[in-house]
Amino acid sequence: MATIESLDRCVNEAIADERRRVRRLRQAHPEVKHRITDYAAVVVACGYRRSCSTFSGYSASPIGYNYSDKIRQRLEALAPIGDKRPGCKNTVGACAEPHAADKVMKTFPGCKMNELQFSDAYRPRTVRRIRNCQNCKDTFPEVL
Ligand SMILES: [Zn+2]
Repeated sequence: MATIESLDRCVNEAIADERRRVRRLRQAHPEVKHRITDYAAVVVACGYRRSCSTFSGYSASPIGYNYSDKIRQRLEALAPIGDKRPGCKNTVGACAEPHAADKVMKTFPGCKMNELQFSDAYRPRTVRRIRNCQNCKDTFPEVL
């Protein structure tokens, strides 16, 4: 089963991967001005309590992304995916949390929403911990 330790390991690897990716991108294009948005804003790991597999997810635009049914239904209960709603600054479906959870759901379709388990979320640019936003708390109320 996914453990705090395995989720921590997964998110730490994802942070390192993202920092490596941006470093290579910038080295390959030294003429291009560095931007904060070179980095994914947030990364998180998610697991299924009945499996030892863990999956990292990055914040990204949800436009054109096809969420699995359970995640999509939860997101659409907040607002149309890709929109914002009062009470949260983040776009519905753009956070790292639903992206990571979606990988779990697509790998383990029998996973229930209360069987998801998240690591802490981090900003890979600064390696600072980020609090879960209201959209995510309302999408995953069983576990966040
Ligand atoms: Zn969020």
